[in-house]
Amino acid sequence: MICRFLAAACLVAVASLSAAGQKPIVVGRPTLVVFVTVDQMRADYYARFKPQLTGGLRHLYEGGAFFKNGFQDHAITETAPGHSTTMSGRFPVHTGITSNALGVGAADAPLLGGATELGASPFRFQGTTLTDWMRTADPSMRFLSVSRKDRGAILPIGKSKGDVYWWSGSAGIFTTSTYYADTLPPWVQRFNARRGYAAYAGKSWNLLLPASEYVEPDSVWEESGGSDFLFPHPFPAELADVAKGFGNYPMMDSLTLAFALQGLKEKQLGADANRTDLLAISLSTTDAIGHKYGPDSREIHDQILRLDRYLGAFLDSLFTLRDQKRIVIALTGDHGMTPYPEVHSGRYPNQNAKRVSLAGPVTALNASLAAAGVPEKAWAFDEGVFFVHDAAAFASAKVSADSVARAFAAVLRTVPGVMRADMFTDLARANPAKDKIARRWLHMFDAGGAAKMAVTLTPYSYWESTTYATHGMPHDSDANVPVVFWGTGVRRGAYADVVRTVDMAPTLAAILGIKPTEALDGVILTKAVRGAK
Ligand SMILES: [Zn+2]
Repeated sequence: MICRFLAAACLVAVASLSAAGQKPIVVGRPTLVVFVTVDQMRADYYARFKPQLTGGLRHLYEGGAFFKNGFQDHAITETAPGHSTTMSGRFPVHTGITSNALGVGAADAPLLGGATELGASPFRFQGTTLTDWMRTADPSMRFLSVSRKDRGAILPIGKSKGDVYWWSGSAGIFTTSTYYADTLPPWVQRFNARRGYAAYAGKSWNLLLPASEYVEPDSVWEESGGSDFLFPHPFPAELADVAKGFGNYPMMDSLTLAFALQGLKEKQLGADANRTDLLAISLSTTDAIGHKYGPDSREIHDQILRLDRYLGAFLDSLFTLRDQKRIVIALTGDHGMTPYPEVHSGRYPNQNAKRVSLAGPVTALNASLAAAGVPEKAWAFDEGVFFVHDAAAFASAKVSADSVARAFAAVLRTVPGVMRADMFTDLARANPAKDKIARRWLHMFDAGGAAKMAVTLTPYSYWESTTYATHGMPHDSDANVPVVFWGTGVRRGAYADVVRTVDMAPTLAAILGIKPTEALDGVILTKAVRGAK
């Protein structure tokens, strides 16, 4: 049974019978999978900060299999699509999660514990994840997922109901929604009652190391909307305000890891030698700090150092509680990050970055379609994509949606900062190995669906309306993330191969000796699997 998927798994998993008639004990097979997603983790942060990394990041990257050329290989490199690929082994075109706006927000699944943010559920998510495959192999498996963000907790797990929690700034608690539960379990309530954020009221976020250890200038007015761009960054004085803003400070990652560890103890994850459990952790503070200050900032430098220390402390505690020889850990990012177009540190080749507005052409298109009798709700232009949501409305107005899309694309190509505007039918004819932009759009939307045409800006350019540092484009700056495996069944090494986040779930399944229950986009990264050819 343990060897049915990949012979490699047999080399690390030696079965023996503990006693006549009992379930075989699989010696060496992991009892715990820990999947860490660092929100907005650029792959190059490791090399950039390496001399100062002494904690968990160093432990995992150096002691495991590290692929620096990992990619979220799809076009709209936002949080929700990114989290939908990591444990599903499938691209957004197959998970159904194509943007943050069409992510997990669900008014019919309100939050518990007095949290007032929008409800959330995986109702848009399609198909299965590693959790489901593990459950199919062993219905007694247990899992816990935790994040600062609803989408970061929900989407790695998929549709499975269980212990899925995320931070609510409005209530200052980890919560869940009615999709998962009617009340918060006592251990969650006890953890929340400790108010782990409260000690920071009136204090400040200071640099971890002496200022001379940071090469980045601190005084950069483009950061943080031109205010609060200098260390130290004070916390508010009022408790409710600390809770509300806590997600924007590094310490939120520490609190998330503390919650994960508490949940591991409460649910006894990884404690049964005959079971493999799963702990999914999404650390979202890097994203908050990156958006506010950008990837060139002194703040992101300090955040990565702190994340490294927090992860180190987490691993120390984990390895005290559980046998580290029975644990496999994976780490990646849900997307990368692009600097402010106005910040030219020399670190990134963004000298030609522009801010692009398509407001004029969109207004003109709107007017011409309205004049032709096509109702406004029959189409949309979102995230650089022209969608036809009601083909019948175009037909009854005797307007060819394809011709409209083609003409619109021709206009957009003349706008400075637009690199290309492609019909999906044309993208489908491109060579996906050579044209990564085409490939990434097709990993986002089906060429025969509502998405008719997609605009790609030049590398490092932003939409004009963006008021913070951001990501979301099909370029490597936003797509390149680390892919890391560590622990049982993992072959250590630093690899330059181009790999995708969709390869992570099938690779973990191979290490566990279980089989995905549906067709995947990803493949097993055999280089990372001990004993595999
Ligand atoms: Zn994100």
